[in-house]
Amino acid sequence: MARLIFLGPPGAGKGTQAVALAQKLHIPHISTGDILRQALKMRSPLGVKAQGYMDRGELVPDNLVQAMVEERLHQDDIDSGWILDGFPRTVSQAEFLDELLQKLGHNSVQVINLDVPDDILIERLLGRGRPDDTEDVIRRRLEVYHADTKPLIGFYSDRHQLVYVNGNQPLEAVNTDLHEVVAP
Ligand code: AMP
Repeated sequence: MARLIFLGPPGAGKGTQAVALAQKLHIPHISTGDILRQALKMRSPLGVKAQGYMDRGELVPDNLVQAMVEERLHQDDIDSGWILDGFPRTVSQAEFLDELLQKLGHNSVQVINLDVPDDILIERLLGRGRPDDTEDVIRRRLEVYHADTKPLIGFYSDRHQLVYVNGNQPLEAVNTDLHEVVAP
C-alpha cells in the first residue's frame, strides 16, 4: 500500500512524476495546486479567496488548504493508497496532516524529496508558461519554499520517513529512481 507525500521546490517535477506514479500504482494523485486552480476556474468561494495568494506566489492560508485536504482524504477512493503533491507546505500543515492520518488510521507514509538546485528550477519554471510563472512570482515562490516548506525536510527526516530522489536528471531516470525507493 503506497501512501506518499511528494516534497520539493516548485519546478522540481513533482507534478509530472506524481501523476505518472499514481497511474502506475492505481492510486489517486491529490494535488492541492490542481484543486485550487480548479476552484479558481469555477469561481467558487475557495477559488475567490485563494486567487490573490496564488497570483503573488504566496501560500494560501493553512486553514483553507487543510479543510480542502481533509475533505479530499475522506472520499472513498483513498483506501488503496494515495499520493499527496504540494501538501504539506508548512510545518503546521504537516502537524495537521499527522493528526488527520492518525484519525484515518493511515500509517506507514513515505515522504519523497525531489531535489533540484535553484538555478535549474528558475530555468524550468520560466519555460513552463503557467499564468503564475512570471519571473517575479517564480522568485517569490522559491523564497516561500525556502522559508516555509524546506523546514519539512528536517521534520520528516527526524522521523525517518524521508527519502531523497535526485530531480536534476532526465524524466525517465527520475521515474526509475522513484520506483526503486517506493516500497512495494
Ligand atoms: P502548485 O501547483 O503546487 O505549485 O501550487 C500552486 C499554488 O497554489 C501555490 O503557489 C500556492 O499559492 C497554492 N498552494 C498549493 N498547495 C498549497 C499548500 N499546501 N499550502 C498553501 N498554498 C498552496
